[in-house]
Amino acid sequence: MSGEPSAGRDYRPAVTQPPPPTPPALAFPTVDAHAHLDLLDAPVEEILADAAAAGVERVVTVGYSLASSRWAVRAAEDHPQVVAAVAVHPNDAMDADDDTLAAIAALGASPRVRAIGETGLDYYWKRTDPEVQRAVFRRHIDIAKQLHKPLVIHDRDAHEDVLRILEDVGAPEFTVFHCFSGDLEMARTCVGRGYFLSFSGTATFKNAPGVREAAAWTPLDHLLVETDAPFLTPMPFRGRPNRPALVALTVRFLARLRGVEEEAVAESAAATARRVFGEW
Ligand SMILES: [Zn+2]
Repeated sequence: MSGEPSAGRDYRPAVTQPPPPTPPALAFPTVDAHAHLDLLDAPVEEILADAAAAGVERVVTVGYSLASSRWAVRAAEDHPQVVAAVAVHPNDAMDADDDTLAAIAALGASPRVRAIGETGLDYYWKRTDPEVQRAVFRRHIDIAKQLHKPLVIHDRDAHEDVLRILEDVGAPEFTVFHCFSGDLEMARTCVGRGYFLSFSGTATFKNAPGVREAAAWTPLDHLLVETDAPFLTPMPFRGRPNRPALVALTVRFLARLRGVEEEAVAESAAATARRVFGEW
């Protein structure tokens, strides 16, 4: 989630432009490894049918507060194509008191919850005390390890501290950097430690050469694709509302970037999602 944290904590972006058309179906079905279905402006069934029409068969919907995490678990219980991740977002780390974290851990025990996240550090918005963010990040890492579930990390302008804390406390077996925002060197460090990198529409943005270099290099068995919908719509639709179907555009972009067939990226991203989040 990259949207600006608002005082009212309603992360729903203002929709000022029409949604892009549904892309033609991918030659091989894939997975959107990170979306916020609760922030989209259409019923879940409609979003999932539209995604399936583009060859996006399964979605991980991600909580960013206790309320949105509860919503994510319900959506995953109601829709076989959907699994959930639960956590309190770093921009709202001040809300993550002991009771809230205990409730997140309880939600996390659900079989439809396949990861703890998005958690991590965000030094871009400067809205939440970094010390509080770091403490809450460590608590979420503990929860992921206690539950033996993957960790989904939000890291914005905080690469060094994120890597240091993971090294300090020991990362869970499956650790995913959502919306990877580092460069080639950071990608090498992460993959070298066994972490997984999930690429969003930002890889298609002109002003993200470092992310593109990382996306061109990352071994396919450590690469995931995501939308972070409704945010970060891939080119050529940047600025318009995002949704899981549009991960097909990012898959096609990554295939061109890497000089391979779209099937290769779609298939390996789906296989890597199964390895990280389990079968669903
Ligand atoms: Zn997100």
